[in-house]
Amino acid sequence: MREWISSPRRRRAMLGVGMLIAVLVALTAAVVALGTDLSRRTLIVFLLNAMLVLGLQVFIGDTGIVSFGHVAFMGMGAYLTALLTIPPRVKALQVPDLVALLAHAHLGLIPAVVVSALVTALVAAVLGGGLIRMQEGAMAMATLALLVIAYALFQNWESVTRGTLGLFGIPADTTAWVALAGAAVFVVVARVYKESRAGLRVRAAREDPLAAKALGTNVVRVRYGAWILSASMMGAAGSLWALSVLAFDPNQFFFAATFSLLAMLVVGGKTSVTGAVLGAAVVTFLQDTLSRVEQGVRIGSIELPRLTGTVDFVIALLIIVSLIWRPEGVMGRREIEDLLRRFRRSVPQKGGDQHVALGRVEAPANDGAVLSAEAIDKRFQGLIALSGVSLTVATGEILGLIGPNGSGKTTLLNVVSGILPPDGGRVRLGGRDVTSLPPHQVATLGLARTFQNIRLFSHLTVRENVSAVIDDDDPAVVTRVLGWLQLDDVADEEAANLPYGAQRRLEIARAVALRPRVLLLDEPAAGMNENESDGLVRTIRQIRDELGCGLVVIDHDLRLIMQLCDRIQVLDQGRTIAIGSPKEVADDPAVIEAYIGRNEAEVTGPP
Ligand code: ADP
Ligand code: MG
Repeated sequence: MREWISSPRRRRAMLGVGMLIAVLVALTAAVVALGTDLSRRTLIVFLLNAMLVLGLQVFIGDTGIVSFGHVAFMGMGAYLTALLTIPPRVKALQVPDLVALLAHAHLGLIPAVVVSALVTALVAAVLGGGLIRMQEGAMAMATLALLVIAYALFQNWESVTRGTLGLFGIPADTTAWVALAGAAVFVVVARVYKESRAGLRVRAAREDPLAAKALGTNVVRVRYGAWILSASMMGAAGSLWALSVLAFDPNQFFFAATFSLLAMLVVGGKTSVTGAVLGAAVVTFLQDTLSRVEQGVRIGSIELPRLTGTVDFVIALLIIVSLIWRPEGVMGRREIEDLLRRFRRSVPQKGGDQHVALGRVEAPANDGAVLSAEAIDKRFQGLIALSGVSLTVATGEILGLIGPNGSGKTTLLNVVSGILPPDGGRVRLGGRDVTSLPPHQVATLGLARTFQNIRLFSHLTVRENVSAVIDDDDPAVVTRVLGWLQLDDVADEEAANLPYGAQRRLEIARAVALRPRVLLLDEPAAGMNENESDGLVRTIRQIRDELGCGLVVIDHDLRLIMQLCDRIQVLDQGRTIAIGSPKEVADDPAVIEAYIGRNEAEVTGPP
C-alpha cells in the first residue's frame, strides 16, 4: 500500500478521495442534525444513488463501453438481500416454497451486503465471459438484453421473487450513517481502481484499444475485471438500497432506474468519480423537488394541478441540455482535487534522474537476429500487399525500411507485431515463434511500436500514457523516459493538447517505456523540420545504446534514414527490391527506378 501511494498521481488522488468524503460527511452530519425526516430520507436516497452511479462509473466511465444492464445487478443484490434478511416467519408467508437455505436465513446488514456483492460478482463473471469479447457497440446492445431478461426473471420466478407483488418486511437497516459509510467506501474503491494499474490500462484501452493491445495490454482481461468489479458494486448498492425501502417489486429494476442512473452519470461526467457523486446529487435533488410538483402544489392561493411525468420530462431535458452544453458532464474529466490545482499548479518534476537504468535486466543474450520475419505473404481481398517478404534485425542494429507509398511497409509492421495475421510465413522474436500470438503477448515478449497515424491515449495525461504500458509502473522510469524525450515539462498535460511534434515524441516514449528488445518506428519524422529530425536521430541512437534493442525505422526522409541506419531494406509493391548498407542501396538501379522513376514527389532528400 505504501508503494501504491508513492506515485505523485496517486497521492493527489488520495487527497481528492479525502476531500470528497469530507464533503459527504459534512453534508450527512448537517442533515442528520438539522434536517427534517423528509430531508433525511432524501439524503439517504442521494447516498444510495451515489453508490449506484459509482458502480456504473467503474465500468462505463473507465472502459468507455455503455451498459444498459447494470440495474439488473442492483436487482440481484436487492432480491438476495431481501431473501437473506426478511424474518423467516414473514418470508414463509410470501414465498413458502423457498429453498431451505434461504428460507431459514436471517442475516444482519454486513453479511447480507457482502453475500450480495459476492454472488453478483459471480453471476457477472459467468455472464461477462460471453459479453466482454464483443465490440463496444454490440456489448451495449447485449447489456440491454440482459436488463430485459433479468426483469422477466424477477417478474416470473414467483417462488423466489413473489413476481409482480414484490417482497416486503425488509428490515430498515440503512440509516443515513450506513449509507454514508457505503458511499465513502465506494468513492475509495472507484478512485483506487481508476488509478490502479488495471484501471489505467482499461482507460488506455478506452482511448485506443488497438494501441493498448499493441503495447502489451490484454484488453479483454482488463475490461472483464472492470465488469465484475462494477457489477459487484451494483450488487452491494442494491443490497443497501433494499434495506432502506422495506418493500419493492420488479418495476424498480427496469428502464426508469436505468435511465435515471445514466442521467446522473452523464450530467456529472462519466470519467470522473467526483462527477458521478455530483451527478447523483443534482439529479436526486431535482427528482425530489419535482416529484412534489408532480403531486400538485399550492403556491400562495394558486393551486397547480397534478402533472404526471414531470420528473421524467425534466430529467430527459436535462440530459439533452447537458449533452449539448457540456458533453463531458459538469466535472468533465476533472476530479475534485483538480479544482484546487488551478490555484496551486503542480510544479513539473524535472526528469533526467540519469541513474535509472532502462535496459532490460536480462541482457540480450542472443547473438544473431532478435527479430526475423520469413517469407511473409499478406493479401487484402484481391490486393497483394506483401509477397514473400523477409526481414531480420539484430540486437543493437538499426534497420531502415523504405519504399514508395503503398509498398507494404506498414503492413509488414502490422504482421510482425501481431495486429494482422499473415497469409503465409513466420515471425520469430528472440528465437520464439510468435506468428499466431495476439499483439499484447508479442508486446510482452519484447516488441514495441509506434503508429504512422499517431495513436495516443488522447485523454490521458502524458505521464499516464507512459505509465499505462509499464508493468512495474515505477515513477522513476516514467520520469526518466519523459526526460529523455523532452516531455517532462508537459507531463501533466492531456496528450490530445500537445503540439504535433510532441505527440510523435510521446508515441516513442510510450514504446520505449516498454523496454523492448525490438522497437518499430513507423514514420517517426513525418511532419518534422530538419532540426527536429536531427534531434530524432540522436534520440533514436540513444535508445539503441541504452536499451540495447534492435530497431526498424520506416521513413520517407531519406536524409534521416541514411544518417541513422546500419542497413536499409527497400520495398516496392509488396516485394523486397534491395537490401544492404546505405551506400549499396543508394547506388542500386532498382531503387533509383522505384523512387525517382515513379515517385519523385516522395523523395525528400538525395538518396
Ligand atoms: P506503406 O506503409 O508502404 O505506405 P501499406 O502497408 O500501408 O503501405 O499498404 C500496402 C497496401 O495494402 C496498400 O495498397 C494499402 O492500400 C493496402 N492496405 C493496407 N492495409 C489495408 C487494410 N487493412 N485493408 C485493405 N487494404 C490495405
Ligand atoms: Mg505506411
